[in-house]
Amino acid sequence: MTALDKALVAPKNLNEDELAKMLASTDEGLWREIFAAAREVKAKCGKTEVLPRGLIECSNVCAKNCLYCGIRKGNDKTVRYRMPEEDVLGCINEVRRRGYPAVAFQAGEIEGEANTAYYERHIAMCRGLEVTLSLGEQTEEVYRRWKDAGAMRYLIRIETSNRELYAKIHPAECSFERRLGCIRMLKRLGYVTGSGVMIGLPGQTIDDLAHDIVFYGDENLDMVGMGPYVAHPDSLMPDSRYQLPTTNYQLSLRMIALTRLYLWNVNIVAATALEALDPENGRRRGIDAGANVIMPNLTPEKFRVEYDLYPGKVKT
Ligand code: SAH
Ligand code: SF4
Repeated sequence: MTALDKALVAPKNLNEDELAKMLASTDEGLWREIFAAAREVKAKCGKTEVLPRGLIECSNVCAKNCLYCGIRKGNDKTVRYRMPEEDVLGCINEVRRRGYPAVAFQAGEIEGEANTAYYERHIAMCRGLEVTLSLGEQTEEVYRRWKDAGAMRYLIRIETSNRELYAKIHPAECSFERRLGCIRMLKRLGYVTGSGVMIGLPGQTIDDLAHDIVFYGDENLDMVGMGPYVAHPDSLMPDSRYQLPTTNYQLSLRMIALTRLYLWNVNIVAATALEALDPENGRRRGIDAGANVIMPNLTPEKFRVEYDLYPGKVKT
């Protein structure tokens, strides 16, 4: 039985080596079969309907300095904003007007009472909508308060499941253990929990990516949101001579397909970064690869231009 046949029998029916071998393949014919199989599994799990969540990028103020990110604290070219409540309310109304069932608040990472209360007020404005948060690492008390206010899902990417690579792309004060602890805490608190990685990071290998997929399963994630790494001109990223078998964009589509084949019944986001690299087709190709969630960006233009995580993002 081929690895692909095995994947179609049951979830988690591939091991890390098999995932790595498939990911390393440059056989286009095999990839066509893998994408078709991912769609088959998606249909079998009743996930063919595309679920929209209106994305609101509430603030680009961030206390962290992740080396890859355009809005990291140390980038003094970024003009900082925090959306006034009336603008947030306008976005929430737009979510309702479009008939989306869900809203997602995303922002730089800030801790403290003012920030906690700011999102409590936003969540309270979302009655009747499902609320996803992507607001980084917080204390258990804060996660609890947001849950009590009505939030249902939380997305916090582990960025890479390789601890050494994590240390290379973050300043020393960022802790892999704390981030992982947050994922587990969110699950324990009853959030529908999502995580994911960036694909094509300098120094990242095929084996790392195969390990990321196994990590999603080991952590029992409900959602996966991952996308291509896109170099930002103001980043502090190290260089790497390691060459992945294809572009970050293509590899991201392949990661979506293999994640669907490995986990089966999860929600997978067609990441905005796919659109940054392929504005015409990125989202659709993510869906065709096995994703079933899209997050249309509803942030008003005047704020959106400053939420510049990576090049190409803003114009989408
Ligand atoms: N501050 C929160 C949420 C906003 S950042 C947090 O960090 O969790 C959302 C995601 O943007 C990050 O998790 C990271 O995976 C992604 N991101 C940042 N810079 C990027 C880049 N240069 N290329 C691709 N994705 C990037
Ligand atoms: Fe801040 Fe998130 Fe960017 Fe890190 S990835 S610098 S936490 S916005």
